[in-house]
Amino acid sequence: MDNAIFNERINELVEHAESSQKRVKKEKPQLKESIYSLTLDELKQWLNENGEKPFRATQIYEWLYNKRVKTFDEMTNLSKQLRDKLKENFAFTTLSTIVKQESKDGTIKFLFQLQDNYSIETVLMRHDYGNSVCVTTQVGCRIGCTFCASTLGGLKRHLLAGEIVEQVVKVQQTLDEVGERVSHVVIMGIGEPFDNYDAMMKFLKVINHEKGLNIGARHITVSTSGIIPKIYQFADEQLQINFALSLHAPNQELRERLMPIARAYKLDKLMEAIRYYTNKTGRRVTFEYGLFGGVNDSIEHAEELAQLIKGIKSHVNLIPVNYVPERDYVRTPRNQIFAFEKALKKNGVNVTIRREHGSDIDAACGQLRAKERVHETR
Ligand code: SF4
Repeated sequence: MDNAIFNERINELVEHAESSQKRVKKEKPQLKESIYSLTLDELKQWLNENGEKPFRATQIYEWLYNKRVKTFDEMTNLSKQLRDKLKENFAFTTLSTIVKQESKDGTIKFLFQLQDNYSIETVLMRHDYGNSVCVTTQVGCRIGCTFCASTLGGLKRHLLAGEIVEQVVKVQQTLDEVGERVSHVVIMGIGEPFDNYDAMMKFLKVINHEKGLNIGARHITVSTSGIIPKIYQFADEQLQINFALSLHAPNQELRERLMPIARAYKLDKLMEAIRYYTNKTGRRVTFEYGLFGGVNDSIEHAEELAQLIKGIKSHVNLIPVNYVPERDYVRTPRNQIFAFEKALKKNGVNVTIRREHGSDIDAACGQLRAKERVHETR
């Protein structure tokens, strides 16, 4: 990308970062609301307003999240009249599976088609501690990280809460076939979750609710590229949910190169927000640090990173990046990854290297969509 275009793009980002919520409200397409969009309280309220008993909400939740039926007609303890009302007002399914890629290590990557024909990715990862689902929160992304295939083609639209919930339900239905359960959720798929904050919060309420998918807060992780006002807002929610920051650089200059959002939200202010989060919640933060060969992976960078996060209750997750065909970055050699880890440890940093999942399929975020849906990502 030549410099003029690159700078133009950054300016757009800076301009839009603060007003994103407002803008998208105007752009929101007319989509039929999914039944999965409703929190239990919202469902009770809807039933009440439609002349039905609020206790039906618990029955509907039971069908959706416990029995995991696939049509309204299977909700046999509801009257036909109520089922018809539900059909009229809500879509049952808003995602259909276009591609399902399965890796040798058990990772499954889904490409789902939405009501308006856009596509999104969802990934099931198998760990020794359980089954984790990585969900997408937006169709595309406007953040523009220079290493990411998900941002090619920009942001098409925000996902509705139900479209995020349904990703987990669909994966759970796949696991039902082998008698397993989704135990963990990470909000790290396509999109910036804090750029779709309200839908993300609603999603969290539904999957965390004991009558919903009942996934424990401590088994859920949300990750942001660093939208500072939302970090303060999220800290004030005082949730037990795990929080991760995609840091990727130990200084302002390098972060701007990798993540243009750093122009709008400076690193020093970002670290202030992170300190606020850890102080307010008493919880630690995870710093995600992608290693890009020859860019941010030297011993000096490791030492600079250790200084930057000194005194913050944290953990660093090193991510050896996959080669993304549309981007120029190369993988850090294995011995350099270990040297980087060692340098952090020497400086007292709590660090791990992320295990790779699905290296034989299109594993990096946005790769499958970029390959299958070229028209959406250009
Ligand atoms: S890494 Fe995340 S925030 Fe950055 S462009 Fe990709 S999807 Fe957006």
